[in-house]
Amino acid sequence: MDQTQSPQELSLTAAAFIASGDALKDKVIAITGAGDGIGKVAALSCAAHGATVILLGRTIPKLEQVYDEIEAAGHPQAAIFPINLEGAVEKDYNDMADAIDAEFGRLDGLLHNAAQLGPQTPLSNYEIDTWQKLMQVNVTAGFMMTKALLPLLEKSSAASVVFTSSSVGRKGRAYWGAYAISKAAVENMVQVFADEMDGINKVRVNCINPGATRTQMRASAYPSENPATLKTAAEIMPSYLYLLSPKSEALNGISIDAQPK
Ligand code: NAP
Repeated sequence: MDQTQSPQELSLTAAAFIASGDALKDKVIAITGAGDGIGKVAALSCAAHGATVILLGRTIPKLEQVYDEIEAAGHPQAAIFPINLEGAVEKDYNDMADAIDAEFGRLDGLLHNAAQLGPQTPLSNYEIDTWQKLMQVNVTAGFMMTKALLPLLEKSSAASVVFTSSSVGRKGRAYWGAYAISKAAVENMVQVFADEMDGINKVRVNCINPGATRTQMRASAYPSENPATLKTAAEIMPSYLYLLSPKSEALNGISIDAQPK
């Protein structure tokens, strides 16, 4: 793989990635929003490829269900760390880092997947409280968590941090409000983190835009759309596995599409 390739070429390479069964063997990977949607499928998929997955989320029964599915499949035993990104403060992230340090001693992967869509309404009508909640969950939480977990990521021989973007984060669109703006901020945060890590440590920071995917969030955004016309989360996993696996070790500061045209 070659970082002189364009994001489009890298997206095609990632989407065509065929992960071997042990592609993530011995990796410790934390995933936010691991109880539902793309995050749930990413957790199951990482575990199926050998990773020990730390399930992060706010709805414990959903996380327990994923934990049980991983256990029933005979994959490496997962761990659950409940966290509500809306209310979490610096101490919560530091406690999370201490717990992961005590149990695993390092972190090889961090997938920032959780996000909220918010209402689709003109900015002129957008509620300030809703704006702040979206920014907290979609942007600030990713910053705080990465900051707290950086010492553990630096203990990995090669760590991959993956943030999640959206098409509306690359080009703003009417009525997508704080969601679109938060995703634009995520794209920029990836560039800042990646530039700061470059040549300093073995932590790489990249971004993925899943594209239209059959989940609850997509159904909320496009209620009249037929979900059967959309890719499932399982179908976009090659790009996620690519970014989290050693295959992408030389990539830093890139934003790829999981469904490149
Ligand atoms: P989803 O089905 O709505 O799942 C979102 C996940 O985020 C859920 O696990 C949810 O937990 C979690 N979450 C939300 N608020 C949280 C909070 N305050 N604290 C902790 N966890 C929280 O969405 P998705 O479609 O899988 O989206 C996953 C990512 O892909 C998001 O970043 C989204 O912006 C991005 N994306 C999706 C699409 C698409 O077409 N699906 C397209 C572009 C980008 P609960 O289940 O407990 O609420």
